[in-house]
Amino acid sequence: MSEQVWFITGASSGFGEAFARYAIGQGHRVVAAARSIDKLAALAAEAPGQVLAQPLDVTKAGDAEVAVGAALDRFGRIDVLVNNAGYGVVGAVEETPMSELRAQMETNFFGAVAVTQAALPALRAQGSGAIVNISSLGGQLSMPGFGAYSASKFALEGMSEALAGELAPFGIKVLIVEPGAFRTNLASGAMRHMPANPAYAETVGPTREFAHSMHDTQPGDPAKAARAIAKALAADVTPLRLQLGADAVDMVRGHAERLLAELEAWAPVAVETTF
Ligand code: NDP
Repeated sequence: MSEQVWFITGASSGFGEAFARYAIGQGHRVVAAARSIDKLAALAAEAPGQVLAQPLDVTKAGDAEVAVGAALDRFGRIDVLVNNAGYGVVGAVEETPMSELRAQMETNFFGAVAVTQAALPALRAQGSGAIVNISSLGGQLSMPGFGAYSASKFALEGMSEALAGELAPFGIKVLIVEPGAFRTNLASGAMRHMPANPAYAETVGPTREFAHSMHDTQPGDPAKAARAIAKALAADVTPLRLQLGADAVDMVRGHAERLLAELEAWAPVAVETTF
C-alpha cells in the first residue's frame, strides 16, 4: 500500500524514532506517540504535515483510547500499529521486588495490549492493517537476570500468537519482532537495575555487566531494523516472528534446537502419561 498511516508507541527514542523516520521517509503519515511530546518536537518539525505528535503513556488508563481517537481524527485510519514502548529490568527473580515486576508487565505487556484493544475496532472496520509487537530475543529464551523482562516479552508473544489467529479472518497481520542487541537508549536510561544480592554474583553478575557495557557497542542498526520490518510486512506471507540481528538468529536457533532435542529425549516419558 502506498499511503499508510503508522502509529508508533515509544517514538521519542531508539527503535520507535527510527521506525518513525523510516515511515516518514516512505511518505507515510505517522502518529508518533510518547510520554512527553517535547521529545518528539524535532521529529515532528521534519515533516509537520505527515506527523501527529501524540502524548501517550501506555500504562495510563484511557490514554490509548484518546491517542487512537486523535489518530483517527487526524488521518482517518491506522495501517500499521507498532507496539514498541518498553524498558528492561535487570536482576535475579529474588532481587526483583513485586512492584518492579508488575511495573515491567504494565509497560511491556499490558501497555501493548491496551493500545491494541483501542486500535482494533478501527482495524477490523477497515478489513486491513498490521500489528507489530516489538518483543526481543528475550521473548523466546531467557537467562539469569532477565526473568522479569523475559516474562513481559513471553507474555506479549503468547498474546500475539493467539491474536494472529483471531485477526487473520479480518485481513489483519500480526508480526512479532525479536531483536538482538540494537544501538538505542535501552541500555543507558531505560534499563532498571535491581539491588544486587551477592548470592547471585556468579549467575546474574555477567548479565548485569553485559547490560551496563553494551551501550553504544550494540551491533544492530535501528534504521535497518525498520527496513526489515517493512519488508516482512510487505511479503505475501508475513512471518509470525522476525528475528533481527545475527545474534538473535543464532540464539533463537540454538534455543529452538535445544527445545527440540529435549522434547525428543523426553517424549517417551511424556507420552506414557495417558490413561
Ligand atoms: P529506548 O530506551 O531507546 O526507547 C524506549 C521507548 O519506550 C522510549 O521512547 C520511551 O519513552 C518509551 N516508553 C517507555 N515506557 C513507556 C510508557 N510507559 N509509555 C510510553 N512510552 C514508554 O529503547 P529501545 O528503542 O531499544 O526500546 C524499544 C523496544 O525495543 C522495547 O520494547 C525494547 O524492549 C525492545 N528491544 C530493544 C532491544 C535493543 O537492543 N535495543 C532488543 C530487544 C528488544 P520515554 O522517552 O518517555 O522514556
